[in-house]
Amino acid sequence: MTSLKTVIITGASRGIGRSIAELLANNGYNILINYNNSERIAFDLYNKLKSEGLSVKLFKADVSRRDEVCSMMEYCIKEFGSIDVLINNAGISQEKLFIDITDKDFDDIININLKGVFYCCQEALKYILPKKRGKIINISSIWGIVGASCEVHYSASKAGIIGFTKALSKELGPSNIQVNCIAPGIIKTDMLSSYTEDELSNLQNNTPLMRLGDPSDIASCALFLASSHSDFITGQIISPNGGFVI
Ligand code: NAP
Repeated sequence: MTSLKTVIITGASRGIGRSIAELLANNGYNILINYNNSERIAFDLYNKLKSEGLSVKLFKADVSRRDEVCSMMEYCIKEFGSIDVLINNAGISQEKLFIDITDKDFDDIININLKGVFYCCQEALKYILPKKRGKIINISSIWGIVGASCEVHYSASKAGIIGFTKALSKELGPSNIQVNCIAPGIIKTDMLSSYTEDELSNLQNNTPLMRLGDPSDIASCALFLASSHSDFITGQIISPNGGFVI
């Protein structure tokens, strides 16, 4: 059986998504890098991987807009001929007291973090389902498992991804499509920019492996879940978190 070849990674301009794109491209996958606002660094990544002879394409789309997601899937089919693996990584976070969360704050988080996963899965499945082979990997968070104070809307969106993953895996299992979830611990990316040095060192000291995560810690997990080594795994929540949540 030929291996799954073409991967769409949402939110791959920066952080975890970028690291996943680099690792999978270097492991022989065709990669569609999705970005929304960070055009310059997305192009830098695209040019770097291209110059290394790797198979990459770039597409700007806001995952919270169905029309843009639909165009991205069409572009992937046009350029690579298939969609085999979808990695729903794009996400935003916000720290706020619960009583201060506005309707807009709540909608922004849900629309990008959760509805974006819904749009990407539905639009990609138009191409994946008829083949009866493919994989979906959704990026949740430890906060979707245990909840984070001052991040109620973010935690709700990430808990939603966990329920979404479990339900969809049951529905798609008979079609030979695995749906799994990665729930990262605290990973050093721009998303941590609101944390103080003290807060970060406190988090590190409360992590049994005594370090914060690197985006590459998540990328290696995504590589496994995208590969045939994970063919009997579906509906699972894998949490690379250094032991922070056990
Ligand atoms: P990051 O460095 O802030 O990167 C976020 C990425 O998401 C960027 O590439 C951004 O693209 C993209 N994005 C945001 N809104 C988008 C939209 N509407 N449409 C398309 N792309 C969009 O964050 P990160 O830490 O790598 O986070 C990646 C994922 O891991 C998120 O789902 C996050 O919730 C999750 N996570 C992170 C941590 C952590 O500690 N860092 C822990 C658990 C889970 P542009 O800049 O191009 O808009």
